[in-house]
Amino acid sequence: MEEHVRGKFWFDDGNVVIRVEGRDFRLHSSILKSKSSYFADLLSHNAAGPDVVQEAVEGCPVYKITGSKVYFLALLDGLYGDLLLTDKTPSCLTLACFLRAAHHWNFASCKSWAIEELARHHPITLKDFDQAGYPEPAKIIVLCRTAGVTSLLKSAFYGLLGQKTFGLKVPKPQKENGESNDDAISDNDTLSEDGDASDVDKEYSFDPNVEWGSSDGILSPDDTTRAILLLEFTAQEWMRISRKPPSYAFLSDYTSHASRSGNCREIFKNIWHPNVTEADFADEGWYNPLWALEEIKAIDWQGKGICSTCATRCREEWETERRSIWDNMDKELGIVGSDG
Ligand SMILES: [Zn+2]
Repeated sequence: MEEHVRGKFWFDDGNVVIRVEGRDFRLHSSILKSKSSYFADLLSHNAAGPDVVQEAVEGCPVYKITGSKVYFLALLDGLYGDLLLTDKTPSCLTLACFLRAAHHWNFASCKSWAIEELARHHPITLKDFDQAGYPEPAKIIVLCRTAGVTSLLKSAFYGLLGQKTFGLKVPKPQKENGESNDDAISDNDTLSEDGDASDVDKEYSFDPNVEWGSSDGILSPDDTTRAILLLEFTAQEWMRISRKPPSYAFLSDYTSHASRSGNCREIFKNIWHPNVTEADFADEGWYNPLWALEEIKAIDWQGKGICSTCATRCREEWETERRSIWDNMDKELGIVGSDG
């Protein structure tokens, strides 16, 4: 007979025992049923369904469920423990485990909460987005795929573009004597990077011993292809915007520039390339045109001879470009639907 270890959550007044991967938790059916349509269904079988183990434990029916006990622990920490009460920021790993559990066992409100929490630390709006500061984009993409979440995907993919080779490593050739190379070691380094001592103190973890799984940051072939397509898209957009000086009609509008020796379109022809295509930020425009356009907006164009009306209108056009790139990424990535 298999041995069943009692989990951290074992309440004397619990009325039901949930068994996950050989770990038993004595819990309250009313709480589980109120939060989860999965458990509402399971526990309404009145201890007669196929998932019920025959022998009761301390008078409680035992339900054996499939899934990960680690994820279930994260979920219980949200229902019974400190996760929703702590002043600290939940670690990304904690939220990931909690979200996977909430999705797997249909805890709808818990799932919504986890998505909102993740969005607070992985901004999903154009206004708040910061590619350079986006943590763990590949893990967020894999998590979204596992938990059926779409709202975090676009920003995660765009965050991924900021990582050299999308954070992937080219495998080194095997040594002749057949010894494994050092990829495994470097992978571990990557996986534990969130475990910086400074972060551990600041962040809340439901279990300090839990680490990311080795496949948690590995994109599917389809998502790798999407990342490549998105990079082609951003590169094309940046080339289209940066390679020629602006030629908006208002720049050469005769009535507004009649009193000047030249018009703003002519002036741009002289100052565009030194200030944009030859600028340091231009190299990053290929994979981060949203940021590069901000850099263009921030240039003191009036100080370089552009009239203030044209400078203002150009900045509006460049903001429209940013919005357009951001909005068109959904189509490029084939992201449809919502998390509802
Ligand atoms: Zn002008």
